Amino acid sequence: MSDHNTPAPITIFTAKKVITMNPARPTAEAVAVRGDRIVGAGSLDEMKSWGEVQSAEVTIDEQFKDKVLTPGFIEAHSHVMAGGLWMLPYVGFFDRKGADGALWKGLKSLDEVIDKLRELDASMEDPNELLLAWGLDPIYFEGDRMLAKHLDQVSETRPIFVYHASGHLATVNTALLNKAEITADDPTPGIPLDADGKPDGELQEPAAMRLAGDAFDKLTEVFRTPDSMWNYAKEARNAGATLITDLGTSQLADPEQVQRWRDAADDPEYPCRVMVALSTMMGGLQSPADLAQIGVDLLPSASEKLKFGMVKIVLDGSIQGFTARITWPHYYNAPPGHPGNGLWLLPPEQVASIVEAFHVAGLTVHAHCNGDEAAEVFISAVEEVLEKHPRFDHRHTVQHSQLTTKAQYQRMAALGMCANIFSNHMFYWGDQHRDLTVGPERAEGMDACATALREGVSFSIHCDAPVTPMGHLRTMWCAVNRLTATGKTLGEHEKISAEAALHAVTLGAAWQLKLDHDIGSIEAGKLADFAVLDDDPLTVDPVAIDDIGVWGTVLGGVPFPAESPA
Ligand SMILES: [Zn+2]
Repeated sequence: MSDHNTPAPITIFTAKKVITMNPARPTAEAVAVRGDRIVGAGSLDEMKSWGEVQSAEVTIDEQFKDKVLTPGFIEAHSHVMAGGLWMLPYVGFFDRKGADGALWKGLKSLDEVIDKLRELDASMEDPNELLLAWGLDPIYFEGDRMLAKHLDQVSETRPIFVYHASGHLATVNTALLNKAEITADDPTPGIPLDADGKPDGELQEPAAMRLAGDAFDKLTEVFRTPDSMWNYAKEARNAGATLITDLGTSQLADPEQVQRWRDAADDPEYPCRVMVALSTMMGGLQSPADLAQIGVDLLPSASEKLKFGMVKIVLDGSIQGFTARITWPHYYNAPPGHPGNGLWLLPPEQVASIVEAFHVAGLTVHAHCNGDEAAEVFISAVEEVLEKHPRFDHRHTVQHSQLTTKAQYQRMAALGMCANIFSNHMFYWGDQHRDLTVGPERAEGMDACATALREGVSFSIHCDAPVTPMGHLRTMWCAVNRLTATGKTLGEHEKISAEAALHAVTLGAAWQLKLDHDIGSIEAGKLADFAVLDDDPLTVDPVAIDDIGVWGTVLGGVPFPAESPA
């Protein structure tokens, strides 16, 4: 704190409106900042009075006088490869903008994907070099699957690995199957066979994908580069986010990876705060207890912009890949070749002991549970662990929480658990969930924000970038409107208000990251992190929420304008 005789200067940002998310003072016309923290939010006269009574130098910054300030958005489930995958060609269904701003046109049929891959194949000089692409989502195509026989039409000699949009599956060609010696005899789950009894080219979930050897290693390399870390934060800043969570895609047991994160995030130019979660998925050999110790050892070295304290575990797969675990009556209209009821990525009987190791270490466990059968196992594990080791305020969180039922939300409320709901599915896969994966009734009840709200479960909503594009205005739009890609409403009764959606992406996310004392609202004492918007998400027509322009952010009192990439 400053010497009383020489008070530090104050900058007052004026705005068309400041939405504070502070229930005691929901809106303001100005916010005063000293250093990286908020002195107060209120009328311009009130803010000026700080300078008068303390004889502090005051600067009034009017650059946002026509803008709306909200607390900086907090993305509590995304991945650092959101910044890195753009180094690889994109072959997804929807148009997407890369980290460099270049537009990748969506490919609307299997043939268009094959043509694009042929073009890439022709542009490569070395005939043996691996062709790696990402973003594939065959669920939109006639036939619903892309297999080795399709990729063999691109090349019978060059190994090809195409990573799916969900991040849970890949399709490889016969040349790669042969090179990596993946055969029908392999005991690894997630290698479906064709009519001739040979692997059909789909590799479901990480254990199977890892069998692709070099190809998988090369894919995961892009997660670890400084460019990936920087592009990830720039994309977040452009979308109004001031904190992003790399949920379990960094190997924190590797000191070099931790150092790369420090070098990036602690650079004053790095435009976002980052929470980096530990993961049991990153191929380390540590036991849960050893990994928990690594997590505990990292805690004291957190900085204002680099946070630790969470651990990610993954129970099941993806619903659109038919690898999530869902309760009876299971999948509605699954194509042949998919596992009857998804895959367990952790043996269910081990989940309680894994949760226990992290819980007793004081860490917060975030469990990927797309299906309700997975959520049930995790909720029961948390209950079992809490009976043995009562701990108030653990904030263990069901991640994705896509098919979590009212009964499960009631248990979660009783146990003090949180949810982070994957609302973007409404738009990107809503039609497919209704027609193919879970059928009409369960599709309407998916991503049940209104139920979570009614049952008193603290929740956030997320994009899971790179699975869907980074951007909380888009995610709010999905939760508020529940419109599918074909413009149909899916689940009228699970819509939430814009205000509840804004709470989810600010204080709701801050709470589950245990950072709500510092961020998530604009009020005295908190860090000066704002999203700077062209319009008011609480008063525009709800279907226009994602049309609101983003000027950029203020991070710790410093404006970070969005940059249209070169
Ligand atoms: Zn994820």
